[in-house]
Amino acid sequence: MEPFKSGKHENIMRISDWEACWPELTAGFSTRRGGISRYEYESLNCGLHVGDNAEDVWMNRQKLAEAAGYPFSVWTCAEQVHGSNIRIVTEEEAGLGRTRQEDAIKETDGLLTDRPNIFLASFYADCVPLFFYAPGWRVIGVAHAGWRGTVERIGQKMVQRMIQNWGLAPADIYAAIGPSIGSCCYEVNDMVAGRVRNVLHTKAHLVLEHTKEDKYMLNLQETNRILLEEAGVLPSHIEVSHLCTSCRTDLFFSHRKEGGKTGRMTAFIALKEG
Ligand SMILES: [Zn+2]
Repeated sequence: MEPFKSGKHENIMRISDWEACWPELTAGFSTRRGGISRYEYESLNCGLHVGDNAEDVWMNRQKLAEAAGYPFSVWTCAEQVHGSNIRIVTEEEAGLGRTRQEDAIKETDGLLTDRPNIFLASFYADCVPLFFYAPGWRVIGVAHAGWRGTVERIGQKMVQRMIQNWGLAPADIYAAIGPSIGSCCYEVNDMVAGRVRNVLHTKAHLVLEHTKEDKYMLNLQETNRILLEEAGVLPSHIEVSHLCTSCRTDLFFSHRKEGGKTGRMTAFIALKEG
């Protein structure tokens, strides 16, 4: 069963089982539909850093926040750098980066908070979005895991940070791995395959398929799933999307498929007050 489901808004896929189980939670992933951007960015481009008109991106972000049930004023995002820095977002930081890339939380790929009414947002065009929720603690998080972030273990670092900061146990955490480029479409070279082998060791054959000479097909979602499991997240607490962003350019932007010039989807997670 696909955990990310379309509802009444064509611009959003929600983690519907999570939202049904925990009414205080809002979590999902935007599609490329239902926005106002044009050309390569058609239509719901949420990335300010990709060459689109800023005014169009603001409008797209507003439409998305509204559909998700939050005011645009609490849309909070970071300058993603394919690293593994994580920030615990405070109330004072709510709203950072929503209209200007320069105001975004610097050099950060993972966001966590236990505060309600902060709409954590991060941006994707093939990379893997990781969602986190610890319901007993009301801690939410989202992390951007391309191959670099993945081999830098950003998923495990999110889990460790939650343990350190809130004193929770890995078994308290639920994780969801969102739509991203699938092993059907994600060809990598020897260097990337080697970096994956360095973190997965004997499990690397589960995610790498050697196709020709120095080329491999990589399952980045499964790589992240294995690493989360190694960090102590229960396998039954991890949801994985089956949607490939490169196969489904009708629904998603794909950096690979569209030759690097394209828009960005948003992975979002937020808590309601109360
Ligand atoms: Zn594919």
